[in-house]
Amino acid sequence: MKNNISRRNFIVSSTALTAMAGCMATKSAEKAAAPAQEMSKESGIRVRFLGSGAAGWKPEMAKKNPHFRRQSSVLLENKVLIDFTMCSFDMLPTDCHPEVLFQTHSHGDHYNPKAAVKSGVKRMYVQETWADAAREEVGQAAAELGLPAPEVIALPFGKPVVECGMRFTGVPANHSTSRVTNGVLERTSLYLVEKGASRLLYATDTGGILGDAARMMGIDPHIKESNFSRFAASGSYVHKPQALTAFIMEATDTDLDEDFRIFVHSSVQAVSRIVNMLIKNKRLELPSGQHVYLTHLGLGDKYRGWPSEKIDKELPEPLRAAYDGLELVLG
Ligand SMILES: [Zn+2]
Repeated sequence: MKNNISRRNFIVSSTALTAMAGCMATKSAEKAAAPAQEMSKESGIRVRFLGSGAAGWKPEMAKKNPHFRRQSSVLLENKVLIDFTMCSFDMLPTDCHPEVLFQTHSHGDHYNPKAAVKSGVKRMYVQETWADAAREEVGQAAAELGLPAPEVIALPFGKPVVECGMRFTGVPANHSTSRVTNGVLERTSLYLVEKGASRLLYATDTGGILGDAARMMGIDPHIKESNFSRFAASGSYVHKPQALTAFIMEATDTDLDEDFRIFVHSSVQAVSRIVNMLIKNKRLELPSGQHVYLTHLGLGDKYRGWPSEKIDKELPEPLRAAYDGLELVLG
């Protein structure tokens, strides 16, 4: 493929490639001819943690710490990445060629234009507020590497898109970056991932869960079937009450509650409170024996360098610490 492949040409070729791979292209204005993808009716989402650490973990620490954590990244169904940086390449299974990348935000421990290009994904979704910037950066990285650039797609909050049998909805995170594109400050995303009856929330980076996000996902406990129409009438972002079945959330530190970072990150205690509240209100219904997984684990806490099994002994139920390479099917 030529280095400076035009966007139009690439869209045509990526459509052909994805069709060959059995993962049909997304419906968009530019690809009106492509059929809309359908969400798989089969429940269960295969999740592989390619990284479970926060920004403090640097690649050079890998040699010194046997319980090193790469920067946070997950691979879903062997096809879709959420966040990806250079340090997670070695965690991709050898036969794996991811097709799509969803970005939560543009901080360097989650987003790297060269890693996005080198991953070989065909499409990359970013929140609409910074899509133009990402398109430019990814294009530049592709030119430098002599590789094709993925198509960068602007994703508004609350608008689902189906990729590889899963339905992804970006919802607002409580996090912030200083990136301004076309005069607009970046908004950061969490992702609701649905497949069959499975509803997984991947929540990093974020300080708690915003009310708007809870409404978009149908997990705001005070919106019930009985009063739904009243809330729905007030705005398009309210979804009918529906429980999550799987939950991965950041816990950047243990003692964050007295640290200013609690504005934009979550502590273990904060995750525990959110999980208990959701379970009590039937907005999180975990299949029996399934845990809530913590990721984006930080360096500043007492768990630094501990193996996940040792951290798990200290965590309240149903929390468990993810680790790099952990693979499971979440129902
Ligand atoms: Zn981060």
